[in-house]
Amino acid sequence: MDSIISANNLQKQYGEVQALAGIDLEIQGGGIVGILGPNGAGKTTLVEIIEGLRRPTAGRIRVLGFDPAKNARALKERLGVQLQTTAIAQELTPLEILKLFSSFYNSQRDRAEAILDLVDLRDKAKARNRTLSGGQKQRLAIGMALVNDPELVILDEPTTGLDPMARRQVHRIVSDLRRQGRSIILTTHYIEEAEKLCDRVIMIRNGRIVADGTPFELVGHAAGKSTVWIAVEGTPDFSPLQRAGAEPQGKEGDYFRFSVQHPAEVILALGELLKSQNLGLTDLRMKRPTLEDVYLDLVGDVPPEELAEMANHTETRDE
Ligand code: ATP
Repeated sequence: MDSIISANNLQKQYGEVQALAGIDLEIQGGGIVGILGPNGAGKTTLVEIIEGLRRPTAGRIRVLGFDPAKNARALKERLGVQLQTTAIAQELTPLEILKLFSSFYNSQRDRAEAILDLVDLRDKAKARNRTLSGGQKQRLAIGMALVNDPELVILDEPTTGLDPMARRQVHRIVSDLRRQGRSIILTTHYIEEAEKLCDRVIMIRNGRIVADGTPFELVGHAAGKSTVWIAVEGTPDFSPLQRAGAEPQGKEGDYFRFSVQHPAEVILALGELLKSQNLGLTDLRMKRPTLEDVYLDLVGDVPPEELAEMANHTETRDE
């Protein structure tokens, strides 16, 4: 299958600032590709070059086979771009604005009604846009990107500023788009969102790709270690675990905590230890590194929104 996006040595210079410093990228059709990176990393610049809104200073890009800077019109028929919610006409209703946007395209069918259901705004079809909540406006903005039945949908920070419930609603919509066979590119500041939603994650820092793979692959390649907590009856001699690479981290309640590079080897050593020392295992817990550990390792900082989100989640997590 042909790439939907193909970029070679893509560069963008704004005066002294090198926003993109040589991006090589092949994206195949289908699935959700997340672009992650701190503020100023170059995400928006990359996305706007893909959309044809900006021209690269150097390098080559093809989107659905087109050069976006030269074939913007042809590309527009097959591409869906989520606009900022500020671009939504306040005095119109969701149904009116979806019909209006549909009329801009050559498409034969009016998809406004179907899109209302897809973005879960059926009950707000005839409400004035200005009365919609932040999450409803964001869903309407996504709906507006779908009127031309696009193969490729680009969502630039679709969940920024939304509360966890509203964010989950957007996640459901994005997953539905994926199930319909569309390709989705989304930028986000939320690492957890990328981990949960994306088939492929591309991390950008200073205009360069620093990591690219499935969340599973990226976590697997991470330098980060797992943590293992072990509770046993009796007084164990843990030296076999240390020989298997476990580093003792002290005690937490009844649990001995270890930092571990290769959990499988340590668990096998634990089995042997329990047998040879005739001890019973009360509990075993393990925490693998997360995508956030990889991000911190490669990109270096947690964006403020993510920190706020992490604090929120400890209180409101309900999944
Ligand atoms: P954010 O997460 O904050 O949206 P981003 O990853 O999308 O950041 P970009 O908006 O692509 O980053 O910006 C990359 C760099 O280019 C930044 O240093 C930014 O200040 C600079 N930049 C972006 N647009 C312009 C412009 N029109 N003129 C000058 N510099 C710009």
